[in-house]
Amino acid sequence: MSKFTSKIFGPVPSRRLGRSSGIDIIPFKTCTYDCIYCQLGKTTDKTDKCSEFCPVGEIVANVEKAVKSIPNIDYLTLSGSGEPLLHSGAPKLVDILKREFNIPVAVLTNGSLLYRNEIADTLANADVVMPTLAADCERTFEIIHRPYQTIKFDNVIEGIIKFSKKFDHELWLEVFLIEGINSEIDKIKSIKTIINQIEPHKVQVNTVTRPASDESAVAVNEKKLNDLKNIFGDKAEIITDYSGKPDLENSQTGGLENKIITLLERRPCTEKDIVEALLAHKVEVIKILEELINMGIVEARPQHGKIFYMQKRKLKSQD
Ligand code: SF4
Repeated sequence: MSKFTSKIFGPVPSRRLGRSSGIDIIPFKTCTYDCIYCQLGKTTDKTDKCSEFCPVGEIVANVEKAVKSIPNIDYLTLSGSGEPLLHSGAPKLVDILKREFNIPVAVLTNGSLLYRNEIADTLANADVVMPTLAADCERTFEIIHRPYQTIKFDNVIEGIIKFSKKFDHELWLEVFLIEGINSEIDKIKSIKTIINQIEPHKVQVNTVTRPASDESAVAVNEKKLNDLKNIFGDKAEIITDYSGKPDLENSQTGGLENKIITLLERRPCTEKDIVEALLAHKVEVIKILEELINMGIVEARPQHGKIFYMQKRKLKSQD
């Protein structure tokens, strides 16, 4: 198995974080969950075991290079193609990033590991922590997240609530809604009860807009999502972009082909998304996409009346 190397993406404009530079510290699809709505396909390494997938020093050196070459980064964001808190060095990394660079640090997490004190207590220096809430009970939790066997709904919710009581900085809760699974009014009321216990600073309502891992993950339509958002109260906002425009953190290095592969490794995109995200010429993008499809690296999939391009198989050089 090749050695995993951290990657720094962006910055590109992010709806939630301004100019956010993503730090991918986890091998592709290493996660505690296998969410039906995941844009990255099926989880290939479902686990609850934290590991140092790549040395923290190496990640910091990569961030230093990125920060020197790119001005005006609003946030350094621990994110990636899996659950970033599975990296055993993630909390230490937050502290080093805060100390070394004068840039706010955000942590995008599914929240499943916040019940562990050794993780939650050491995230105190992050400026923003953004966990996800989609289920109101164990059964819905299992249906939506298909979690690793040791990860249980009650522990996850208690963990997020306990974390939010101790955490002094911003906690923004992503509430992910799926038509027919957690979008009915009784489910929404139960989710609201949990939100009231978490007391996040923001409630960021989202739904499926890109090809998902499982076809049972269907989007809540715009009007209904807006009505449901109102039930969650004044702190709630919709972060779904129904135009399909990406909220991307893409690589600024390497040739266009590599940039497209890196982008599609992160999430499915339309041709327009790629052109806009990489400031590339449309004809060149079309040509490269055709080549990547012929090589079996990328596939095209229709969704919501658009064609999304997504990674079909990983290159040998990827982890
Ligand atoms: S959506 Fe996030 S938490 Fe869910 S499987 Fe994908 S990477 Fe993991």
